Amino acid sequence: MYDVRLVLVDFDDTLVDTGPRFARARDSLFRLLVEAGFDAVEAERVHHQEVDPAMRARHGFGPHRMGPAFAETYLTLCAAAGIDPEEAFAARCLELGAAVAGTPPALDGAFPALRRLSRRLPTAIYTQSADAAYQLRCLREAGVVDLVGDARVRVVPVKTAAALRETLDAFGVQDPAGAWMVGNSLRSDINPALELGVNAILVEQPDPWHHDVVEPLHDGFRRVSAFSEAVDFLLDVTNRPPGSSNR
Ligand SMILES: [Mg+2]
Repeated sequence: MYDVRLVLVDFDDTLVDTGPRFARARDSLFRLLVEAGFDAVEAERVHHQEVDPAMRARHGFGPHRMGPAFAETYLTLCAAAGIDPEEAFAARCLELGAAVAGTPPALDGAFPALRRLSRRLPTAIYTQSADAAYQLRCLREAGVVDLVGDARVRVVPVKTAAALRETLDAFGVQDPAGAWMVGNSLRSDINPALELGVNAILVEQPDPWHHDVVEPLHDGFRRVSAFSEAVDFLLDVTNRPPGSSNR
């Protein structure tokens, strides 16, 4: 039996549908640009390799960069083609990107599972954003703060092993083996946990963002296909009488 002192749960693409909305918005932008006569491959290259990295450096990860990045992609393509940009078209691009902002919808079954988990085990939301105030607003509007309680939400700029250690300390957990991290990102959720000796569960995504896909430090973690499966597992292992098998 595990002695579970803390379960940390990621937010974006673990509990709510964030990444696919970003990807769908980008697809809409490229369709619009192709309809306007630009080359599809060149439009994607300009967005992915020139504009978005610069916007991420300026605005950080998150939806605030999307509108400016979309409009800038159009302006860059116009400049390269030697044509005058149309203000109304640039505004349409900006709107497409800006529409991604706002509270993302819950993934199927995720919130009932979070409720079950937080009633039985000490649970906290652990998430990263360049804009903590925006992220807190999303957490609140999604209803996640109500589920776990105000004091059990932690937003950090980047999820590193050091940020995870500080988070354990903030919740009074000394021994990393008493903590669990549940999330969809090998880079941000699993590897920092493995580095510290925190138990980890990867909630696999069918179409993960390339930035999240890195080699795991080792294979000592579980993989599930939905957050509710991770909760079933955690409630099951903590139910077993001492001395019974873990799996
Ligand atoms: Mg995530």
